Amino acid sequence: MTNETGHTGSCFCGAVQYRLRRDPMFVHACHCRDCRKQTGGPYAINALIERSEVELVAGEPVRHTQQTGSGKPHDIWRCGSCGNAVWSDYGRREVMVFIRVATLDEPERCPPDMHIFTRSALPFTPIPDEAGQCRVFYDMTDEWPDAALARFDRLGTRRLGA
Ligand SMILES: [Zn+2]
Ligand SMILES: [Zn+2]
Repeated sequence: MTNETGHTGSCFCGAVQYRLRRDPMFVHACHCRDCRKQTGGPYAINALIERSEVELVAGEPVRHTQQTGSGKPHDIWRCGSCGNAVWSDYGRREVMVFIRVATLDEPERCPPDMHIFTRSALPFTPIPDEAGQCRVFYDMTDEWPDAALARFDRLGTRRLGA
């Protein structure tokens, strides 16, 4: 992604509105069972970005904490009015969020860089040939562009999958 102009998004009712100050670092399509349950869709599309690059334009999302298989909490931030989830924080890193791409006004600008947990993908869910994919997870060093990896490492948080 080279376009650094802002992305905007909102919950379904519009009480929560946000803006991304720059493009996400990386975009996941996650086919795990938890993501399917939580979104009600065939997979979740999450854009990974620094929390400091997410600007709240209106409203204040409310945190809902889910337990995960890793033992680290998964905080899902929802609109207090309509309940729509706008982003989450897998593993409570706090310095980074996973924007739910379908809540962006132009989600087509954030196609998945990598499909993960494809071992549990539904048999009728197509995965584009041009997208990266892995059965479970991957090594960030192998898959992330250098510039994105540098941004991630500046956050000082543990690597994904670690
Ligand atoms: Zn709402
Ligand atoms: Zn998942």
